[in-house]
Amino acid sequence: MDIWLTNSRTRKKELFEPIDRDNVRIYVCGPTVYDRAHLGNARPAIVFDVLFRLMREVYGPDHVTYVRNFTDVDDKINARAEASGRSISEITAETTQWYLDDMAAVGVMEPTEMPRATAYIPQMIAMISDLIEKGHAYEAEGHVLFAVESYKTYGALSGRSVDDMIAGARVEVAPYKRNPMDFVLWKPSAPGQPGWESPWGVGRPGWHIECSAMSYELLGATFDIHGGGNDLMFPHHENEIAQSCCAHPEGGFAKVWLHNEMLQVEGRKMSKSLGNFFTVHDLLEGHDGQPAVPGEVIRFVMLSTHYRKPMDWTAEKAEQAAATLRKWRGMVEGVEAAAVPETVLFALADDLNTAGAIAELHKLASAGDAAALKAGATLLGLLTPELGAWAEVSVDLSGLAATLADARTRAMETKDFSEVDRMKAALVAAGVEVRMSKAGVELLPGAGFDPAKLEGL
Ligand SMILES: [Zn+2]
Repeated sequence: MDIWLTNSRTRKKELFEPIDRDNVRIYVCGPTVYDRAHLGNARPAIVFDVLFRLMREVYGPDHVTYVRNFTDVDDKINARAEASGRSISEITAETTQWYLDDMAAVGVMEPTEMPRATAYIPQMIAMISDLIEKGHAYEAEGHVLFAVESYKTYGALSGRSVDDMIAGARVEVAPYKRNPMDFVLWKPSAPGQPGWESPWGVGRPGWHIECSAMSYELLGATFDIHGGGNDLMFPHHENEIAQSCCAHPEGGFAKVWLHNEMLQVEGRKMSKSLGNFFTVHDLLEGHDGQPAVPGEVIRFVMLSTHYRKPMDWTAEKAEQAAATLRKWRGMVEGVEAAAVPETVLFALADDLNTAGAIAELHKLASAGDAAALKAGATLLGLLTPELGAWAEVSVDLSGLAATLADARTRAMETKDFSEVDRMKAALVAAGVEVRMSKAGVELLPGAGFDPAKLEGL
């Protein structure tokens, strides 16, 4: 099975050839753990989860190493700790678990390794010392900075020159920088800030060095694929490349770079000021009067758009996805999965075309091939037992429909509709669509149906 991937580094779709077929190695930049993951954060997690699943399918589950880090040292974390009066370790531990729970809810498998930055400080210090020795970094006023002019091809990934960057970027001007684009590898910590002993005094690492140190430690000087959102391409990924290639010129760092496009909500950039900002947890639990959206539905909507295209999250897409998944789950119930259909595998092997793979699933469903549908969907992490609880309508709603119909009949006589209104509101809150007509009362469980909320009705 040939896999083709669009390499951001070469800007071409290339045939993927693993460095070692027995150990395909992938690194993806993970979250900074200071708050709940917002919906946009779920996109790379889901996209690269599908890549992980595809590689496991093609090369064997034991022949893929997928590393996704946790950034647990960052000024945003310090600020959160200070504002809340809680300890940094409490906040990072809690937020890390939130992230794992939310990603599991949208069907993301745990990567092979999930290193925390703070567990790799000695390796970062060693790499920084090495960069200073090799003339790529310098110490100034307790800081250590990477000298971008020491690395000829700095900016090649995003296709910019250092001069363009200076002109275009909001550069932090600091008197101790030789070049405004030089970036921080190490910075001093004041008392009360997290800090580690180093040759440059008590301090903490800059953000970029952790990915270089951890990928070297866990994957080596050269590995197959580096992934992340395209918002990370500059400066984060440029800086990772500069650090790693200068510290380990014997390796080439990542051969293939994959970047996913960003996410919008109802056609607009997600932002707190527009009121369309929400976390994965908000969606899973229901928020602002909106019904809950099951994790499987979130996953399906995300995969309906190719990772290299901007993705637009809409409530309508979620409704349609829920209807499709409910129908498919009905079809594959009790059916044994066949072999993964080639059409689905081909679509994914063609630059991770998840939208194409879903189109193939629709064809299998139309043809009534439930065994192939189940196998193909499972490769995408859909129709799995873990994500299925939402679609099990274990409660018979006919009794409630009859009670509501009776209440309405009584209300017609007494002109007191309060009981009808109360029941309707409770049903809607439980994610049930209520249709009342002369013919009677119909209750339809929707995407966010939660049988537990029917108790007491
Ligand atoms: Zn990174």
